[in-house]
Amino acid sequence: MMTASAVSVPGTLRDRFLFTPRSQNLSLPRSPQASRPACPPKGGQAGRPYLVPWFLLFLLSGLVLFHPNLFAAGKIKIVATTPVIASLVREVVQDTAEVYAVSSPKRDIHFYAPTPKDVLKVKKADVFVHTGLDLEAWRPPLVEAAGNGKFLGSGKTAIDMSQGISLLEIPQSLSRSQGDIHIYGNPHYWTDPENAKIMVQNIVHGLAKLYPNQEALFLNYAEEFNKRIDVKMKEWNSKMAPYKGQPIVTYHKSWPYFAKRFGLDIAGYLEPIPGIPPTAKHIAELIKLMKEKQVKVIVREAFHETRTPAKAARETGATVVTLLQNVGAAEGVEDYFSMTDYNVNQLVQALNH
Ligand SMILES: [Zn+2]
Repeated sequence: MMTASAVSVPGTLRDRFLFTPRSQNLSLPRSPQASRPACPPKGGQAGRPYLVPWFLLFLLSGLVLFHPNLFAAGKIKIVATTPVIASLVREVVQDTAEVYAVSSPKRDIHFYAPTPKDVLKVKKADVFVHTGLDLEAWRPPLVEAAGNGKFLGSGKTAIDMSQGISLLEIPQSLSRSQGDIHIYGNPHYWTDPENAKIMVQNIVHGLAKLYPNQEALFLNYAEEFNKRIDVKMKEWNSKMAPYKGQPIVTYHKSWPYFAKRFGLDIAGYLEPIPGIPPTAKHIAELIKLMKEKQVKVIVREAFHETRTPAKAARETGATVVTLLQNVGAAEGVEDYFSMTDYNVNQLVQALNH
């Protein structure tokens, strides 16, 4: 096994990772956790719970105070809000830390409801890594319920993965007129493999401040990850190249970063606005648009209902394809590479139909 002392840190490598994330020209606060939106999220939409009541999380945390074997002894304890973030953290820390993912890969991250185990994991964690923005609307109450001083308020050991990401779809003003989610810009940035490299930078940057004696090791593992991404990007670009400019429709606004990276044109969405279920009127208009633009592919995720995509496909001749937003969302998809392989291969197959 590699040790910190066995790894040299070339200056350029160090500079590449331990950067100070550049500031964004945002008129909105970057971290809803540090600075809450002026208008709190509304209640459930169409029967979906939007926020877990705080009192419930406090109650749950009290019920699991004596939960055994939460983390292995002697390792850094890291909690990540999503499986894909946990996967990227594991790339950087390898076996030097124990990493726990809060949300389920089978569920819509926006609407996940933390469990008592999640609360206690955050309570006991050394480091908390999250998507930032408003992807995890349940994150602030989860952190509050866990009461871990390292992450509360201006907590120093929380890592915001959105730092340094060039965000898409940033609204002109802080408003919920376009829905209750994506109010700081589109938070699904991890679907672009080049953004995964920035996320890994953020992990290294955050961990190096806390564990400077392991900095060289983290840098080395991160560099290995970047090299693998660069190799795979050639393959993914080559597979997607024949479909540049092809119009697609997606269920939720989950794919703008992926589409931009690989040159796809997103013509419309099944959801009228993010987080709001499709309506008959909206779908009728979308079907008309799909026919005009000759859209051949509808992208959904496994947790979306199938009836609406099937109807739109039936009326337009398009193919419905299920893509993955998370590691673990399909069998054999165990890391960032297999997730992106899966998405590229499924999409190519559908576009070629
Ligand atoms: Zn979303």
